[in-house]
Amino acid sequence: MNLVILGSTGSIGESTLEVVRNSKGKIKVLGLSAYSNYDKLQRQSHEFKSKYTILAFDKDGQEKLIDLVTKPEVDTVLVAIVGFAALRPALAALRAGKTVALANKEALVTCGELLMQEQKQGGGKIIPVDSEHNALFQALQGHDISDVRKLWITGSGGPFRGHSRKQLARVSVKQALNHPKWKMGPKITVDSATLMNKGLEFIEARWIFDFKEKNIEVIIHPQSIIHGIVEFIDGAMLAQMSVPDMKAAISYALYYPHRQTDAVRPLNLIEIKKLEFEPVDVKTFPCLSLAQLALKMGGYSPTVLNAANEVAVGAFLNRKIRFLDIPELISKTMETAPRQSLKLDMIFEIDAWARKRTSENISSL
Ligand code: NAD
Ligand code: MG
Repeated sequence: MNLVILGSTGSIGESTLEVVRNSKGKIKVLGLSAYSNYDKLQRQSHEFKSKYTILAFDKDGQEKLIDLVTKPEVDTVLVAIVGFAALRPALAALRAGKTVALANKEALVTCGELLMQEQKQGGGKIIPVDSEHNALFQALQGHDISDVRKLWITGSGGPFRGHSRKQLARVSVKQALNHPKWKMGPKITVDSATLMNKGLEFIEARWIFDFKEKNIEVIIHPQSIIHGIVEFIDGAMLAQMSVPDMKAAISYALYYPHRQTDAVRPLNLIEIKKLEFEPVDVKTFPCLSLAQLALKMGGYSPTVLNAANEVAVGAFLNRKIRFLDIPELISKTMETAPRQSLKLDMIFEIDAWARKRTSENISSL
C-alpha cells in the first residue's frame, strides 16, 4: 500500500511511521510533509525512502500538498496535520477517491456535513483515527446501524480532573501540558485539559457516524482503557479496549479490514484491576457544552467555535491569556457568529473572520 503522511513530524505522524516500520514492507511511504522541523522531515524522508517530501509552511507548500495527495499512485492519505489547515488537503484526497485515515479532527468540526458529502460524491473513504471514533468504528463492524441506540465516547478527564474553578484559575501551561494518559501534540493536549477535546470529538462523531446529538454520550473514564462503546437497542453494549497508544488506532485504520500482528501489547487486566466511570463536570469545564451548543446553532457556529479555540489555545500556549480565558473567548466570539447555512466556499472566509475577532477580543482582555 502506498501511503502519504501529512504532518509526519508530529505525535501522530511519528506513531504512524512506527506502524510502517513494523509493517515488514507492506506499507510503503510515498510522501511525507511537515510545517516546520526540516531536519526531522529530512531524516524521516531518508529512512523511509519517501519519493515526495514537502515542507508546507507557505501557500506554495500547501498547493504541493494538494498535488501530492491526488497523485494516481497514492492509495491512502493519513492526515495528521493539526488544526483547520488540514481541511484543504483532506478534501482534495476525498475528491480524488483516496482512503483518508483521518487523525485531524478540526476539519470535521468546521464542516463535517460537507466533508461527508464530498466523501460520498468523490468515492473516497474516511477511516477515523481519533481513538474514540476508531473504537466506535471497530465496534460497529458487521452491525446494522438501525440496531444501534447510542454511541459513547470516553475521556480520561485530563490533567485537571477533580479541580475546582478556583484551582483552574491558577494553572500553568506546564501543568496543562502534563497529560496523565496520552502523549500528544501541544494543541490537543491543552484541548484535553479544557475538555474541548471531548467537545470536538462530539461534533466529529455527529458527522462521521451520522448520529443525532441526543444519541451521543460522553463519559469520563480515567484509566483510558475503554475508548468507545456502542449501545444497541437490546441493551447490549460493545466496548473497544486497548492500551492508550495511538498505534492501535493508526494500525487498524491502515490495515482495515484486516489487523496487524502485535500493533500494540495486549492489556494486562489483572494489573488494571478496575475500570471507573464518572459524569463530565460541565460546570467546571464548559467547553463540551459550548461545542454542543455550536452543533445545535448549526451553520458556521462549529467553524467559529473551532477557529476561536485554535486562537485561544495558541494564546494560552504563548502565555498571553489564562486557562479560564479560553472558554470565555470562545463563547464571546460565538455570540457574533453569522447565522447562515453552511457553504464550502465561505468556510475559509468565516474561519479567518473568527480568528481575527478572537485576536481582537484577546487584545481587549
Ligand atoms: P502535532 O502538533 O504533534 O503535529 C502536527 C503536525 O502537523 C506536524 O508534523 C506539523 O509540522 C504539521 N503542521 C502543523 N501546522 C501545519 C500546517 N498549517 N500545514 C501543514 N502541516 C502543519 O499534533 P498531533 O498531536 O500529532 O495531532 C495531529 C492531529 O491529530 C490533531 O488534529 C489532533 O487533534 C489529532 N489527534 C491527535 C492525537 C494524538 O494522540 N496526538 C489523538 C487523536 C487525534
Ligand atoms: Mg480522541
